[in-house]
Amino acid sequence: MPKYYLQTYGCQMNVWESGIVRRVLADAGFAETGDERDADVLLMMTCSVRSHAEQRALGRLGTFRSLRSERPGRIVGVLGCMAQRLARSLVSDHRADIVVGPDEYLRLPELIADVRAGTSGLVATRQTSECYDSVLPARGLSPSEASSRSAVSAFVTVMRGCDNFCTYCIVPHVKGRERSRPLAGIVSEAERHVAGGAKDITLLGQNVLAWRDGRRRFPELLGTVAAALPHVRIRFLTSHPRDLDAELLEAMRRPNVCPSIHLPVQSGSDQVLARMNRGYTREKYLAKIALCRRYLPEVSLTTDILVGFPSETEADFKSTLDLVEQVRFDYAYMFRFSFRPGTGAEKIEPKVSEADAGRRLSRLIEVQNRITAERNRELLGRTLMLLIEGPSPRDSGWLGRTVTNKVVIVKGDCAPGDLVRCRVERINGWTPVAEIPARAAAACSGKA
Ligand code: SF4
Repeated sequence: MPKYYLQTYGCQMNVWESGIVRRVLADAGFAETGDERDADVLLMMTCSVRSHAEQRALGRLGTFRSLRSERPGRIVGVLGCMAQRLARSLVSDHRADIVVGPDEYLRLPELIADVRAGTSGLVATRQTSECYDSVLPARGLSPSEASSRSAVSAFVTVMRGCDNFCTYCIVPHVKGRERSRPLAGIVSEAERHVAGGAKDITLLGQNVLAWRDGRRRFPELLGTVAAALPHVRIRFLTSHPRDLDAELLEAMRRPNVCPSIHLPVQSGSDQVLARMNRGYTREKYLAKIALCRRYLPEVSLTTDILVGFPSETEADFKSTLDLVEQVRFDYAYMFRFSFRPGTGAEKIEPKVSEADAGRRLSRLIEVQNRITAERNRELLGRTLMLLIEGPSPRDSGWLGRTVTNKVVIVKGDCAPGDLVRCRVERINGWTPVAEIPARAAAACSGKA
């Protein structure tokens, strides 16, 4: 039986898409190996969101090429967003045998067979409006279920692509336009995860609030999944601020929907937001934050922030810092602008120097890290319901997750999948540490 090795770079969407690749290859008679030297086919699932991610993947491709030269007949393939974006140049400049974009994974066995038969340098990057959820069953394959953060936490992709065309973002160019999966398929995939032991399900999409199934919108999907799985924690990711409304927040009041929202702001400056084509102003964003806190007083809010976007001045950056201080996010993913060829930002001037962008990013990280530590210190002495995901990689404790999506180190007798109620005794760095007085697994009661 031929063996393949698959390395995944990038976001949770890529983890889910790697699951599709695994399903397709398993169906075609391939076995996965965790040892690249043992593999007949070396594959990488790539990300194009930042140039750094592409550079890492290209570096790894060099290793794959060396492994290929050690064993004639070994095949090297690049999959995903970078495959879609760079396409033929991955063959001509980087000597990949197969290049497969996000809509073409079903062709992988056929492409591998063609390379074995002597045709090298195959590129499959056709984009379609179909969703794998409809295509896989039509070809006698079951949908992917290989996506999870741990044995107890699973991800279910509900839609792919994005129509927003933020000027810094490559996603609509490589993943294509928005395509939603039908509601029934999503519910049954979530149910299968739960039957397999999952206790925490995240509904995933590049722009999840844009999900549609006929006249149904995302709040109905959220409510339906939550009602079908009343003992499971339900989350979703990622939300565009423009699409967040009272109907969504009302749906989030269900007991097993987690009060946690990732709401990327990107900048606190109106002129930068307009040039990013984000579709909201600072004032409107702050109004959405206030709405979230009115409906869900315990809500945790996280965000993405980009600094050094072309045209960003010191005053714009200060507006971002000011917004961060005002909102007091629980956590933020902070990045320096990374130019992506073909995006709208290409034409926006003036560019921000690397030195200024780096200095602004350091300052932002300093401010947000202080706020994150302060927010976590608010948990000190509180009793929380924690879902144990697995052993902590850094110490002898366990990793537990709150409904507000905070990771807590748990000390005591427990096991993955346990839901334990325990008190936060101290803060280590900025990580809360809780202790279980005795083994205490309980039925999931949703919010704590
Ligand atoms: S909403 Fe904007 S940033 Fe998010 S995936 Fe779509 S284009 Fe990219």
